[in-house]
Amino acid sequence: MKEQLEQISQWIISSRRIVIFVGAGLSTESGIPDFRSPGGVWDRYDPEDFYFQNFVSSEASREKYWQMATEMYEPMKKARPNLAHLAIAEMERLGKLDCVVTQNIDGLHFKAGNSEDKVIQLHGTAMVVSCLTCGKRYDRDEIQERLRKGVKVPYCDTCGGPLKPATISFGQSMPERETQEAYHRSSLSDLFIVIGSSLVVQPAASMPLLAKRNGAKLVIINRDPTPYDDMADLVIHGQAGPIMDSILKEIKKGMDNP
Ligand SMILES: [Zn+2]
Repeated sequence: MKEQLEQISQWIISSRRIVIFVGAGLSTESGIPDFRSPGGVWDRYDPEDFYFQNFVSSEASREKYWQMATEMYEPMKKARPNLAHLAIAEMERLGKLDCVVTQNIDGLHFKAGNSEDKVIQLHGTAMVVSCLTCGKRYDRDEIQERLRKGVKVPYCDTCGGPLKPATISFGQSMPERETQEAYHRSSLSDLFIVIGSSLVVQPAASMPLLAKRNGAKLVIINRDPTPYDDMADLVIHGQAGPIMDSILKEIKKGMDNP
C-alpha cells in the first residue's frame, strides 16, 4: 500500500494536467446517504414523479418532487468535506489540479476550498434553485425557507415559472457545456484519478477511457472493484478520505525535497 501511495504522489508531482473524477462514494464518506441504496428515499417515493417531463407538466408531481428534494437536502446541508475533499482542495493550492469532474450535487468541493472554475458539476448542483422558464437562479436556502413556511411548490418571483433545484433529473439531458468541458479536459489530461466512483453511470464513465486512450495514466481509488480496474495503471480499493490524506502528505514531502 505504501508503495502505491508513493507511486501516485510521484505521478501527481510530475504531471501537468491532473483531472480528478469523483462519484457518490466521496459524498457517502461525508455522511450523505446514497439515495439509490436500499432504504434510501427512492423506496418511499414513486420514481415516476421525478421524471423531468412530469415535473414540467404536473403540479402534483412538483409538490412530491419538492417533498423528496427537501428530505435529500437536509443531510447535504449539514455535511462537511472529508479528508479526500480537503486533499483535492489542497492539490489546487499546490498547482496540481487541472479540474475536478464530479457527479455529486452537494457542493462539498466548494466547502473544502476549491474555486468555481476548477469544479465541473456534471449533474448540476443542489445548492442552487433555478427557474425553468427564465433561468433566474436562487440560493437553495432561500427557497427551502419558503417551503418551511408552508409553500408547497415555489415559483419564480420574476416570471412565475416553476422553480427546481439546479440538478439533472431523470429525463433531463446532461448539461452540454459541462459535459463538453469534462470530455475536453479528460482528453488533454496526463493523469486521471477516479475517486469514489464505481464507473457504471454513462456517459461519465467513458471519461477515464478517453483519458487513457489519449495517453494519460489512470488511477482508480474506490471501495469496490470497477469495470475499468484492469486497464488502470494503479488501483487502490479502500476509503477515499484516509487514502487521499496519505497521498497528500507524500506529495508535500516530495515537493519539499525534489
Ligand atoms: Zn423565472
